[in-house]
Amino acid sequence: IVQLYVPLNWFGTYYRAIQKNFVDMENMFELMHVDSDVRDAAGAPELVVRRGGIEFKHVSFGYGPERLVLNNVNFKVAPGSTVALVGPSGAGKSTIMRLLFRFYDVNEGAVLVDGQDVRTVTQSSLRANIGVVPQDTVLFNNTVRYNIQYGKLTATSADVIAAAKNADIHDRILTFPDAYDTQVGERGLRLSGGEKQRIAIARTLLKDPAIVLLDEATSALDTNTERNIQAALARVCANRTTLIIAHRLSTIIHADEILVLKDGEIIERGNHETLLSQAGFYASMWQQQLENRNNSVDNNAEGNNN
Ligand code: ADP
Ligand code: MG
Repeated sequence: IVQLYVPLNWFGTYYRAIQKNFVDMENMFELMHVDSDVRDAAGAPELVVRRGGIEFKHVSFGYGPERLVLNNVNFKVAPGSTVALVGPSGAGKSTIMRLLFRFYDVNEGAVLVDGQDVRTVTQSSLRANIGVVPQDTVLFNNTVRYNIQYGKLTATSADVIAAAKNADIHDRILTFPDAYDTQVGERGLRLSGGEKQRIAIARTLLKDPAIVLLDEATSALDTNTERNIQAALARVCANRTTLIIAHRLSTIIHADEILVLKDGEIIERGNHETLLSQAGFYASMWQQQLENRNNSVDNNAEGNNN
């Protein structure tokens, strides 16, 4: 089930993780891109998650000694609330997600989940409490059922179907040649970007974590698909602490707080209305996206110049 270019010792860890039911496929694929030498502290306890509050406290971080990628980043995500990260490419948005997962340790400051420094708890317990809906979900070469059940290996078939319904993918699955037993992935039925993202949503609903990270698709989904997926995304975020990397600002106008990140620093923060009224960087990003949208509407508007 797993591509065998994963280093063997890593595979062992991964296999034990399955046995402990602390699994998250996204983590595995993310980890393969990371030369992580982060280790659990000796005798580290498991993370105790109450309501899933997140805090970045004066966090500075660089991938190497020559350059800081995050500089004194400070923010909280209150339990059950939604915070959005926006900003230009290279600003450090994905790095914030990686630090929350503790793929790397911070140079200065601390990352806390429900008041516990992520360096003090086991990585498996940390990751077990965080669900991810990534930009581009990689599916296992296995059945649709397995790809959803991966969120919680002990889930029943009825649980899997309920999650698929909540992710608005059940009806689509029933049109596949073998319904839930259809093989997907590289060697099976190829799913569209939107379908894969719904599978990831179903899996996360099944996993039922206190914290959800969304990395909004940039180009993987077209605007229509993206609009249709909003309802399922809203369900996966409901009553969970949510951190979202947003590219389309229209999707985060209801976020409790928006953090505008540029060159590793939070340059503006507030809700959508507040940020617009400040007429700063966020407001100009918003203006830019409105213009882009109007241009594409004009281009598609068969002779109608409105
Ligand atoms: P964003 O998600 O906002 O586009 P990232 O967090 O991915 O930005 O990257 C922030 C900065 O860190 C960029 O300058 C990027 O080139 C650099 N960076 C990202 N990943 C690595 C890495 N694994 N090693 C070294 N530099 C990296
Ligand atoms: Mg990124």
